[in-house]
Amino acid sequence: MLSTIAAISTPLAASGLGVVRIAGEDAIAVGDAMFRPVGKESLAELGGYRCAYGRVYDGDGDIDEAVATVFVSPHSYTGEDTVEFSCHGGPNVLRRVLRSALSCGAKPAGPGEFTRRAFINGKMTLTQAEAVMDIISSRSEQAGKAALNMKDGALYKKITAVAGELTALQSHFAAWADFPEEDVPELSPEQMRCVLSSSRSVLKKLIDGYDAGRIVREGAAAVIAGKPNVGKSTLMNLLTGCERSIVTEIAGTTRDIVEESVLIGDIPVRLFDTAGLHETQDPVERIGVDMASDALERCDVVLAVFDTSLELDDNDRALIERISGRPSVAVLNKSDLPPVADVKYIEERMPECVRLSATEGSGIDEFRAALERVLRVADYDPTAPLMANERQLDCARRGLAAVDDALSAIAAGMTLDAVSVCVESALDALCELTGEKASDAVIDQVFSRFCVGK
Ligand code: GDP
Repeated sequence: MLSTIAAISTPLAASGLGVVRIAGEDAIAVGDAMFRPVGKESLAELGGYRCAYGRVYDGDGDIDEAVATVFVSPHSYTGEDTVEFSCHGGPNVLRRVLRSALSCGAKPAGPGEFTRRAFINGKMTLTQAEAVMDIISSRSEQAGKAALNMKDGALYKKITAVAGELTALQSHFAAWADFPEEDVPELSPEQMRCVLSSSRSVLKKLIDGYDAGRIVREGAAAVIAGKPNVGKSTLMNLLTGCERSIVTEIAGTTRDIVEESVLIGDIPVRLFDTAGLHETQDPVERIGVDMASDALERCDVVLAVFDTSLELDDNDRALIERISGRPSVAVLNKSDLPPVADVKYIEERMPECVRLSATEGSGIDEFRAALERVLRVADYDPTAPLMANERQLDCARRGLAAVDDALSAIAAGMTLDAVSVCVESALDALCELTGEKASDAVIDQVFSRFCVGK
């Protein structure tokens, strides 16, 4: 039997309410040893799913007024008996209430321990537990919706459906191998291919959707690129609405990378204003250019800025060539000045082009729409099953690779045993994804990301 645990489940800051949660076999006894309900003898007498107003106390006397809510196993978050004290939300009050619970026999809860218990007690799957983490940390409305969808089990259902098909295939192999005298009909390579191909396409779709999902959840990294003086810093300032970058008329002054986070539309975007990618002899500037080049390789989207009031030059053309094929938006800046640049040259080579004036702020709505299109979040569907993290992605990739191996084994005319080994390893990867076969180390890692109290 697991011990009874307690933790402060709300942030430690002055606030209207603060909650101390106690869960485990002795939760109600612990609650009763530190709380005097008004109009009732005890929390045990109160029963489940009821609240009682009263006073929490410790050896030194009353701590605070509180409302105690009682949940009875198995219908609680962790599946165990649970008492939650809602007190006034001051850090001192909450710490003292927690200490009182600990002195009455509860143990301090570790990070994510309540959710871990919910998982152990079968209240939620591993992917649902991971969704809880995402709900807590979601930074945009879309991300919140996607996490809630996962909490509802969308990904779990999708993966278990694939696993179900593969298991059926496996049991057919087993029946055929183990009971040859029973006349189990051998599956034709075509039938096997059909099952495996459908599993393959589900996994492939999930893996392909990962990046769009990740961007909605964690935000996109956008690098502002362009030669000196095209208006990169001015664009950065326009987007962030504050004067973070240094804007000057001397070319090449922004030497290091300036980072700022903003919400563009509903996408959290980390903007990196770089030194540009031009050729330079200045060694300090060279470092900045190298850093810019590095950032350019790693980002989700490049915002390539051009000065349309001047002729395009080799630096502009080199930038276009450099980012060809990458998700990018061409910002045709200084559109308030008479147009000189060969804009058509850019438009023919870049997927999205937006005329903008960074000093006047015109064109910003078009820019936002173009960015959403490039990041493919405009048509992103938060109700579709999505994978939430690298762990799940890694499992799905391993599953897909094993399914591909099985398909190759069939194509090469190998024995059913060989196909079966591949299908088995696909199943292992998928069961690790849902947590059905995840090792303790994997589970430890999942819950170590949680905060204490959740
Ligand atoms: P960076 O070197 O690419 O970061 O360029 P800056 O942002 O420092 O801008 C260089 C110069 O261009 C500054 O004098 C800005 O005020 C000016 N500038 C930037 N954007 C615009 C614009 O949209 N219109 C006009 N007229 N000037 C701009």
